[in-house]
Amino acid sequence: STPVATFCALLRAARMGLLIKGGNILESLGEIRIAAFDKTGTITRGEFSINAFHVVEDKVEMSQLLYWVSSIESKSSHPMAAALVEYAQSKSIRPEPENVTEFHIYHGEGIYGAISGKHIYIGNKKIMARSSCRALNHIQADQEMDDLKGATTIGHVICDSDLVGLFSLSDNCRTGAAKAIKELRSMGIKSVMLTGDSALAARHAQEQLGGVLEELHSELLPEDKVRLIAKLKTSTGPTLMVGDGMNDAPALATADVGISMGLSGSAAAIETSHAMLMSGDILRVPKAVRLGRRTRQTIA
Ligand code: ADP
Ligand code: MG
Repeated sequence: STPVATFCALLRAARMGLLIKGGNILESLGEIRIAAFDKTGTITRGEFSINAFHVVEDKVEMSQLLYWVSSIESKSSHPMAAALVEYAQSKSIRPEPENVTEFHIYHGEGIYGAISGKHIYIGNKKIMARSSCRALNHIQADQEMDDLKGATTIGHVICDSDLVGLFSLSDNCRTGAAKAIKELRSMGIKSVMLTGDSALAARHAQEQLGGVLEELHSELLPEDKVRLIAKLKTSTGPTLMVGDGMNDAPALATADVGISMGLSGSAAAIETSHAMLMSGDILRVPKAVRLGRRTRQTIA
């Protein structure tokens, strides 16, 4: 290969906001046959708004609940955390992360924290099982919270194995996401979604995109994303993965090319990826593939 042509192409990619960690990666980009996109923070903006927040069956005071949730979420860097902290603050609750005595992240599920002698879990339905929260309780609560039905994502707050809070949040797709996926398709590259979020949230994003994605895979743990990337590599060929989260890092490393969101992404995703997008503009993804294809032709 000619180093000059490759170097020039790397410079062009950098100028369009894609930092590529080496010339061989650019060539791999030109060979991509299928693209896998993470949902939250990649296809969507990762800027959540809280639609509703409920105390279940008057089990605790709302101010108490918001204090626990915001204090524990202050220790999380998940896009949902910022929205929950801001929501509590808008209700004049001051989070005190220094009072959280234990903290743990369950990737693809949610978080755990201890505060005021209480054991609190916050997250999706998987966190319910983790916290040994009674399922019956959950079904009753779901029926009670009719206004949560249309929401994209539902969050649960469990205190000492009891469901005490439910909230709903929504997040919107990035501008250009549908166009980027259509451009990839016109280049013969299929796109699929890999998300840790629920099937409902995955379908919601797909609707916003006008149904451009070929497959939706939801409720995935980080290792499920890795397994699916490995499967795409054998079934379809050279695979691209685009993601932002800590939960995407292993899948980004497994893909032939992993692209992270450089400004909003987690440190782990940025580190394990092969290239970094310096803005939220995912239209740069098909552009980069095109550049990769041209580079391969030049150096062949
Ligand atoms: P994605 O793959 O779409 O980026 P994640 O794996 O980051 O999603 O998260 C999966 C799900 O876990 C979220 O949709 C949410 O329900 C739950 N979750 C993760 N982190 C948190 C948090 N800090 N607070 C509440 N829920 C969380
Ligand atoms: Mg994400």
